[in-house]
Amino acid sequence: MSNIEQTLSIIKPDAVERNLAEKIKEKILENKLIIKNQKKIQITREEAAEFYKVHQTKPFYDKLCNYLSSGPIVVMILEGENAIAVNRKIMGATDPEQADDGTIRKEFGISIDKNSVHGSDSGDNAKKEIQFFFN
Ligand code: GDP
Repeated sequence: MSNIEQTLSIIKPDAVERNLAEKIKEKILENKLIIKNQKKIQITREEAAEFYKVHQTKPFYDKLCNYLSSGPIVVMILEGENAIAVNRKIMGATDPEQADDGTIRKEFGISIDKNSVHGSDSGDNAKKEIQFFFN
C-alpha cells in the first residue's frame, strides 16, 4: 500500500553559507522525494527557540537556537513515499562522525552543531513543523 507523506527539511546556516543547498537538493531528488514548496529565510532567535522548544532543557539548547538564527536557511516541504523515514535516512546520524557513508551529514556536516540539515522525525512533528514555516 502506498504511504505518501510530507516532511519538513531545513538546510541549516553552515550549508547555505557554503553554497551546498543545490547539492543537498540533488540528494533529496535522487531519493524520489519531491520539493513541494521551499523558501530561503532567516529566522529570529525567538523563532528558533520556539522551533526547538522540545530541547529547552538540554545543555546545548542556547547554542542551538543561536546557531539556527545565525544566517539564512532553506526550509522545504518534501513529499513522497515514506518521506519522513527516507529523509531521515539520507540525512544520516545527528553527529556527522557517526553518519553512514553517502549521507548528507557524512558528506557535508562539520560537527554535531553544524550538521547541515534538519528533518522531521515523526508524522506529528512533520505536521507541526510544516505549519510552523508554511502557515
Ligand atoms: P536531529 O533530529 O538528528 O537533528 O537531532 P535532535 O532533534 O536530537 O537535535 C536537534 C539538533 O540539536 C541536532 O541536529 C544537533 O545539531 C543538536 N544536538 C543534538 N544533540 C546534541 C548534543 O548532544 N550536543 C550538541 N552540541 N548538539 C546536539
